[in-house]
Amino acid sequence: MRKLFEKVVPGKNGLAVEITPGQHLRIVDLEGHQVIDMALFNLDNLREKLSTSYSRTRYVNGKPGVYVPRDHLTEGDILMSTLCRPMMTIMSETAPEKGVHDCHNRMCNRYLYEVQLGLGPQDGCHEIISRAIAPYGLLPEDVPDTFDINMRYEHSCTKGHWEIGLPASRAGDHVEFRAEMALLVGLSVCPLEAGQCNGGKSTPVRVEVYGN
Ligand SMILES: [Zn+2]
Repeated sequence: MRKLFEKVVPGKNGLAVEITPGQHLRIVDLEGHQVIDMALFNLDNLREKLSTSYSRTRYVNGKPGVYVPRDHLTEGDILMSTLCRPMMTIMSETAPEKGVHDCHNRMCNRYLYEVQLGLGPQDGCHEIISRAIAPYGLLPEDVPDTFDINMRYEHSCTKGHWEIGLPASRAGDHVEFRAEMALLVGLSVCPLEAGQCNGGKSTPVRVEVYGN
């Protein structure tokens, strides 16, 4: 496959990109420890979108009769839609620890920054993705829960809550996906600079599309 598209997206910015079935989307973490929130829409029917809960629980390629709802997704797993159809397959990830991606938490947003963290007015991934996909007639309320690439979000049963940790991705590590349907992909380079989520700083990523 050859590279069809390449764009560096600075920290705290977003991008909308279209990909056709069979094309690959590669997200390169240029400086390391950077989370990228990703929303997916069926390009031919924008009402059908990513479902992280179906992606965790309505997986394909499982053994018939063996059903295990799971808590993370990694190479070979498939991101499913709200209609329980395959949207994307995770093809490869180069970080030393695989499967460090969040599929439980909704995006950061202005409410989190202003009210819950007390950091003052700041756009979150919800606002950033909303702006990126606005040219398609989509509104903020259309944005589904995202697949948060590189986000370390682990549940502590003893503490009874979730904990955000440092991403496993190093500078130059990438995650690559194959489109299983025509997709509109909305991306946000997570702007959070408090705590370990993005290693303390929102840094650029490179978005690449490969095809024949
Ligand atoms: Zn975010």
